[in-house]
Amino acid sequence: MGTRVGSGFHEPQVAASRLDKRPKAPTNREEFLLDVEEGIKQAPMAVRLTPHILSVADWSDPIDDPIRKQFVPLASTIVEDHPQLSLDSLHETDDSPVPGLVHRYPEKVLFLATSNCPVYCRYCTRSYAVGSNTDSVLKTPMKPSKRRWETVFDHIENTPAIQDVVVSGGDSYHLSADHLRLIGDRLLSIPHIKRFRFATKGLAVNPIRILDDRDGWVAAFVEISDKGRALGKQVAMHTHFNHPHECTWVTELAARHLFERGVVVRNQTVLLRGVNDDVVTMSTLIRKLADMNIQPYYVYQSDMVQGVEDLRTPLSTILELEKQIRGTIAGFMTPSFVVDLPGGGGKRLANSFETYDRATGVSTWKAPGVTGEKVFRYYDPIDRRT
Ligand code: SF4
Repeated sequence: MGTRVGSGFHEPQVAASRLDKRPKAPTNREEFLLDVEEGIKQAPMAVRLTPHILSVADWSDPIDDPIRKQFVPLASTIVEDHPQLSLDSLHETDDSPVPGLVHRYPEKVLFLATSNCPVYCRYCTRSYAVGSNTDSVLKTPMKPSKRRWETVFDHIENTPAIQDVVVSGGDSYHLSADHLRLIGDRLLSIPHIKRFRFATKGLAVNPIRILDDRDGWVAAFVEISDKGRALGKQVAMHTHFNHPHECTWVTELAARHLFERGVVVRNQTVLLRGVNDDVVTMSTLIRKLADMNIQPYYVYQSDMVQGVEDLRTPLSTILELEKQIRGTIAGFMTPSFVVDLPGGGGKRLANSFETYDRATGVSTWKAPGVTGEKVFRYYDPIDRRT
């Protein structure tokens, strides 16, 4: 891993000795702050929050709060990493023909335009690159740079099989309006690009910006979306809500603002232990999204990234959620429950595994359309085998 991702990279695997020194669960404010301080020292991701996220967390009960759990690490809740975890669990750097472009599926590419985000999620798939360096991880950043982007555009332009581009990072909310236009216009000008989406958690974590007429980002987004429609190409926004508490009246207004301007918005949720791993929470989230005209697109099994094992669930959890939820919500509003295969097999429906041994927590997978007969494995967290 270390050599593959970058020379300045450290493996932050949680050592048993560190677990032995794990502080007790805090019982007062001072202990909580010390617990956070120690948690930050060990976390692969830096901490960044927005006022919106700070306002929707329940700071009277931060230990159990589903918002705090996603963004603020606590040393006392650290769980030993599974030995198969890695920072770049999806092997994105292996599938990158040029820096910042993942080309795994024949027709689709992932363009990592920036490595900054309005918030930093503890469980980020791209913790090898996103955010500032931490005590345990020196990042391989993807800075917004027209020169770097040119090599990405060259690859896309010279590969006619590519029809679909995901512009991500990092988060498109951290691109300037001019950069958003530059990327949008360039992609729209490539004849074989039929559709693209900008990935942003902005609607979930900083919705007020979407309602601010002085902010040029939304105007640029709507402009690109309109241009795409006129050309018969779909430009969409892919956002990322994980819990119903993230949806406020401001979020509803922001989503309405985008809907009225014809912007297609889809949501990708990450399944997280103690955050959204029960039927009521997940169903409520899906319904709230549907009511805001945000398409509930994917629920992801948490990736096998290091340092956040306390947030990962066994495969059995996503299987049970899918079983309980399917049929209770209109089919077109029911998300696909998927596993993004560790090692680069791409996304598969969670219930399409080849084998699943609940005692050992090992499931096997194939992705014939992408990688032929190669077998991929997903490992349940050691402390949660069913
Ligand atoms: S917003 Fe997305 S890219 Fe940024 S830290 Fe969160 S999961 Fe990672």
